[in-house]
Amino acid sequence: MIEDLVSLSYEELSDFIKEQGEASYRAEQIFRNYASGFSLSEMTDIGKNLKEKLSLYENSAIEEVKKLIDRDGTEKYLFRLRDGNYIETVLMRYKHGNSVCISSQVGCRMGCRFCASTLKGKIRNLSAGEMLMQVSVVNRDNKVSNIVIMGVGEPLDNYDNLLRFLKNVNDPRGMNIGQRHISVSTCGLVDKIKALAEKKFQITLSVSLHAPDNETRNKLMPVNLKYGVEEVLDACRYYISRTGRRISFEYTLIKGVNDGVEQAETLGRKLKGMLCHVNLIPVNYVSERGLFPSDKKTIDAFRDKLLAMKINTTVRRTLGGEINASCGQLRYQQEEDERRERL
Ligand code: SAH
Repeated sequence: MIEDLVSLSYEELSDFIKEQGEASYRAEQIFRNYASGFSLSEMTDIGKNLKEKLSLYENSAIEEVKKLIDRDGTEKYLFRLRDGNYIETVLMRYKHGNSVCISSQVGCRMGCRFCASTLKGKIRNLSAGEMLMQVSVVNRDNKVSNIVIMGVGEPLDNYDNLLRFLKNVNDPRGMNIGQRHISVSTCGLVDKIKALAEKKFQITLSVSLHAPDNETRNKLMPVNLKYGVEEVLDACRYYISRTGRRISFEYTLIKGVNDGVEQAETLGRKLKGMLCHVNLIPVNYVSERGLFPSDKKTIDAFRDKLLAMKINTTVRRTLGGEINASCGQLRYQQEEDERRERL
């Protein structure tokens, strides 16, 4: 018994189609359709009878309920899943092409203090099919060249589905997006970073560090109580040694919390000699949290300290500020709106 047609690999889909007594080219068609952002009901090359027969097995279709466009070109999609949950997906435009930022879970259980995605905990994991459909549906409107798994959820807390998604989205018979065009972002689940290292994928691993010492990181990220800074950095070194890939560290700057020059210096010392890059991001203000972004002077001083220590560092431009395109804000809003309507 299969659970979901959309999450199957090409090989699994072929076997399933054969078992159903259908011609093998049907597997090719269906796999390609999902990769093109079409769910069964929208497929034009599959007959009504077959659609009806298969619809029983299609559980990862997603439905666009809202799309917001920012002045800077960023587009934010709100999708409804088959079970009524909402997820969000963001398209960002860069000179080098379009990146889609996808969610990996409904909600998140990591509890980072600055993040809106985690306010109500984790509802469930997304299937590989639901991750794929976010990319392929957005790709219908705008050609997607890069994928970042940096939306709502902790992808390494949904490890098996993540691996399945990576395989399917990479398949030349489907979306055919190369591993080097995919980034996976984690809050630092050490055991899973090590497991992923063994896969020797060519994807980019982003690690959300946000503080160079346990005292500060414990306050911002509860996950640090389980895997401390040194352990995370050790896992990163291991990852680099197995894959030869540069790690990207995310560091969100919060006024008066983690933005001091001495913290930049500690960070620089700990990253010395590592094949890595630091991405500084002024924290997006989430009204429920009461944390504020650092001012420009502080950000520049933090960056300059790292650069002086020969650490590759950039300050990330923030996109989509107007449309709440950050970190679970839209989904949260939608749920709050519905809650108010019910009351
Ligand atoms: N769980 C994964 C991926 C999702 S979060 C992770 O932790 O990496 C994606 C990135 O957005 C992470 O670096 C996260 O720390 C950051 N982030 C979350 N809330 C933010 C906020 N309010 N402002 C700036 N960055 C934020």
